[in-house]
Amino acid sequence: TTFDTLGLDPKLLAAVKAAGYDKPTPIQIEAIPAVLGGRDVMGLAQTGTGKTAAFGLPLIHKLMTSHDKREPKTTRALILAPTRELVSQIADHLRVYVKGTHMKVVTVVGGVSIGRQAENLSRGTDILVATPGRLIDLMDRGAIRLDAATFLVLDEADHMLDMGFIHALRRIAPKLGTPRQTMLFSATMPKQMEEIAGAYLTSPLRVQV
Ligand code: AMP
Repeated sequence: TTFDTLGLDPKLLAAVKAAGYDKPTPIQIEAIPAVLGGRDVMGLAQTGTGKTAAFGLPLIHKLMTSHDKREPKTTRALILAPTRELVSQIADHLRVYVKGTHMKVVTVVGGVSIGRQAENLSRGTDILVATPGRLIDLMDRGAIRLDAATFLVLDEADHMLDMGFIHALRRIAPKLGTPRQTMLFSATMPKQMEEIAGAYLTSPLRVQV
């Protein structure tokens, strides 16, 4: 299988080529067409499997082909990840993939100036990559609205479980736009994760690599 056959926009194929990716990884082969087709995805996958591109490329494709525009203090897609390191790693990858498109990527994490992050969000973004705690702080300040976000990605969800993640999700999920497409990635699938998947995903395609 080659990237060309997965249904991605030529700009994304060029970005993938520029990144030096030769052929798609197994999770990309399964997840990319499914996400393009509108399905929720639940991926049992470790870091290093190419999962960021597996959700990132079809997500960017869908944002590019939709007629919605970014509006002040909103985002069109939300990616939640457990740590600032992972947030910045995801954003670094996405910024490679969005090259040549007009998509904007903003990150928010704890431990740095919240005023600066509110400022970054004031004109809105296409993709917001965030840790759950700081996102809630920004919501409470009125710095971000989530009602235009119709894509939700929960990355390394098992690592978020011990961080009050369930409580955070209960606050965040009802604020998102509808209908919503949701992707959950986790290296392990404890019972609690199945419950989260049951509550926040709709007939997900299960991908295991
Ligand atoms: P991830 O699992 O998303 O953390 O990705 C692990 C590493 O694999 C990252 O450095 C990516 O840039 C790289 N990568 C992702 N997809 C591919 C691919 N199809 N071919 C080669 N490298 C890739």
